[in-house]
Amino acid sequence: MSFCIECGCNISQSVFEYSLNNMGHPLCMNHQKWLNAIFYNSSTTPHAIELYFALKRRGVPAELEKWDGYKTIDIAVTDAKVNIEVDGKHHNYNHQQALSDLKRTYFSFQKGYLTLRIPNSLVEWSIEETADYITGFLIESKNRKY
Ligand SMILES: [Zn+2]
Repeated sequence: MSFCIECGCNISQSVFEYSLNNMGHPLCMNHQKWLNAIFYNSSTTPHAIELYFALKRRGVPAELEKWDGYKTIDIAVTDAKVNIEVDGKHHNYNHQQALSDLKRTYFSFQKGYLTLRIPNSLVEWSIEETADYITGFLIESKNRKY
């Protein structure tokens, strides 16, 4: 028996194999469509999607490509008040992009949300350890009393 990693519903062996081969993750038909729509209609990256599913595998209630009314967050974990942005090289090398990122981080922090910026290289080379640390971070953030 196999399950959709997004909604937990049962999926058949053929759907499981198709999804694993084509999407890289076990998803039901509806969530294959959902992920395709996000992938082709938004600015999300394969790195953000990989990290999102690494967090889902750890039971994190993450949301992919969440619109907060002002901007789209790569991965949002609302109940821990943490936003995760997965960044490529241009975020470090381009000062205007870096400044715009800092402003976004500041405005989110004013609303009580912490932004974690994860470079693509961590997703590529140390995704499991990275996801473990982020999960620990989320638990600490959620338990913190303000
Ligand atoms: Zn599903």
